[in-house]
Amino acid sequence: MNQTAENIWNNCLLFIKDNISEQAFKTWFEPIKAVKLNHKALSVQVPSKFFFEWLEEHYLPVLKVALKRELGDNAKLVYVIKMENTYSNKKPFTVNIPSSNTNINKAQNVNAPLNINKRELKNPFVIPGIQKVKIESQLNPAYTFENFIEGDSNRLPRQAGQAVANKPGGTSFNPLFIYGGVGLGKSHLLHAIGVDVKEKYPEKTVLYISIEKFIQQFIEAVKSNSRNDFIHFYQMIDVLLVDDVQFLSGKPGTQDVFFHIFNHLHQNGKQVVLTSDKAPVDMQEMEQRLLSRFKWGLSAEIQAPDYNTRVAILNNKLYRDGVIMPEEVIAYVAKNITTNVRDLEGALISLIAQSSYNRKEINIELAKSVVDKLVKNSKREISIDHIQKIVSDYFNMSVETLQSKTRKRHIVQARQLAMFFAKKLTKSSLASIGSQIGKRDHATVLHACKTVNNLADTDRDFKKYVLDLTKKLSS
Ligand code: ADP
Ligand code: MG
Repeated sequence: MNQTAENIWNNCLLFIKDNISEQAFKTWFEPIKAVKLNHKALSVQVPSKFFFEWLEEHYLPVLKVALKRELGDNAKLVYVIKMENTYSNKKPFTVNIPSSNTNINKAQNVNAPLNINKRELKNPFVIPGIQKVKIESQLNPAYTFENFIEGDSNRLPRQAGQAVANKPGGTSFNPLFIYGGVGLGKSHLLHAIGVDVKEKYPEKTVLYISIEKFIQQFIEAVKSNSRNDFIHFYQMIDVLLVDDVQFLSGKPGTQDVFFHIFNHLHQNGKQVVLTSDKAPVDMQEMEQRLLSRFKWGLSAEIQAPDYNTRVAILNNKLYRDGVIMPEEVIAYVAKNITTNVRDLEGALISLIAQSSYNRKEINIELAKSVVDKLVKNSKREISIDHIQKIVSDYFNMSVETLQSKTRKRHIVQARQLAMFFAKKLTKSSLASIGSQIGKRDHATVLHACKTVNNLADTDRDFKKYVLDLTKKLSS
């Protein structure tokens, strides 16, 4: 049997093709090239970071199964990203993303040389000859301010980001805390700050790191008795850019070490920029002293872009890709994809891909078919956070109240409704629903679902709640 990368990948493709829509297959799988097979690790080349993120977000399960069928349980998929060479004088670079089958990490692994080094060096933090070491900044040069379209939804964080990049550590925005929902540009902005600092102050040490990676590194450091090296490494940074700090919740050990690093940097006039999907006040299971540090500087929210900004983002992307699209198509996409910028880009890429594979003209019909599918897809992916928000808004209470331990009847009912809808509309387990809705156990959630079903049959008011909420959650 001749096991070349190409053979293996072609077999995977046959399986994948059978399991997803034809359109999705053409858009997301045909452009992938198999490049290398090393034992059980198959390397495939994808056209962009965006592409990789999309695959991991939408097709990870099918990819896993396909790969396991071909290579067995320890199969690994390594993505190689051909960076789009949008910046004329910068040469394209390639990164490997180890994506083990137990690890459902997304975008954050993209720039992962530290991770890769781990295999070669015992301890990635041991820095030979301390002074003058070069720390790879892990920045994505494609994420710049120039590319980050300004609108009402992101003006404050964008401008604060620019101020910080002009004078790292020298503004009152320290830390700068950027928060907002998924796909709204937090990571982009974080990279943009770093890229800009690097241009203006080449001698400064800049590091972009996702908190998940930070946590992983910390665990390894503790295991290998190199906690101090870990801390020293981070204390050398001039501009520390930390993505997705919400994942620190419930991790007291890492919070503690992060707190110390943060203090050291802050006291020494170094700049820290953080992103999170929640405002500091809404973060749970976080040490108070850390939260209070997060609030020292400026917290700035990125909101979902309004229609005009969406159009501007689409036009900018098309311009950069050198693609021309009828105005009505752009307007249609902007009007119908309202959730976030990532979905907006997804629609665009899908449209471009569709039209080039099928040699079809990009017109409103094509746009409709692409957008309809996307909107359907994103509807399916409703989150438990979203459900809690909608239910608590409906009953005019805060999410904290909904999650609280109180036995007041109307609050209990709201909580039970949230659990009921979480069970109905997501794929989460009872236990996971319980832990996200006020830390209850699975039996409580099960009981809630039964109670709601009963009351909806017997109680007129309650029936109306269920109907109203069903509507709200499906719009
Ligand atoms: P988040 O980190 O908030 O989940 P990202 O920074 O990954 O979101 O952004 C998702 C995608 O949307 C990225 O490709 C990013 O370049 C793009 N994007 C977000 N906001 C803007 C904007 N204002 N202008 C241009 N592109 C944007
Ligand atoms: Mg992000």
